Amino acid sequence: MIYSNDGNAAALYAHRVHFGADCFSRSSVSAIVGTGLGGGIVQWGRVVEGTSGQAGELGHVSIPMEGLLEPGQPVPRCNCGVTGDAESVASLTGIEHNLLPYFLSRFPDHELASLQPVSRAARAIRSYGEARDPMAVAIFTQQAAALGRLFTIAANLLDADAYFVGGGVVETGRAFQEWFLATVRKSTTLRPESAAKAVFGLVPDLDMAGARGAAMAALEAVCAG
Ligand SMILES: [Zn+2]
Repeated sequence: MIYSNDGNAAALYAHRVHFGADCFSRSSVSAIVGTGLGGGIVQWGRVVEGTSGQAGELGHVSIPMEGLLEPGQPVPRCNCGVTGDAESVASLTGIEHNLLPYFLSRFPDHELASLQPVSRAARAIRSYGEARDPMAVAIFTQQAAALGRLFTIAANLLDADAYFVGGGVVETGRAFQEWFLATVRKSTTLRPESAAKAVFGLVPDLDMAGARGAAMAALEAVCAG
């Protein structure tokens, strides 16, 4: 098997670590929030690759923006040219291009308003989130809501056993991780039968390179066993 990207490797790793010996009878969806929004779908222990290796490109799935954006907030645009896809909100690029410019217009006296270029301010926002800064909380609430809407779509397609969140957005202290994951969960609409069974968790081993290597090792162990 050839991995088309780190998102798939991280997804496989999260699946394998979480389900252990049950991994071949379970399915999961992982969203990895970094510069972009990557991820992967694992069905019965195997990454779903698709006809051209493009399956699990979660970032460019269009999600409903109604109720996610504030009144008057411009619809976020993604680098791929689409407006209102998951990555346009739930990625570092989405913060830099869409969320931060809008929220700084609402919080003009915020410390980050004077930090240039805006890419630096975008990277700094996570520590403000951990400190429960109101603007940062508003930004990460929208990101979590975007992931919840994405998982809602995934649930209707797959009815997965687990939904995992990884990447830079959760490379934080435990309290922020728990709040973020709970906000994602709250924003995901599952049918009652699914809600009773599905689990939400973090992709373990938050370093992407580490996750990739570990995924390879995990796969080899599976094949060897
Ligand atoms: Zn896109």
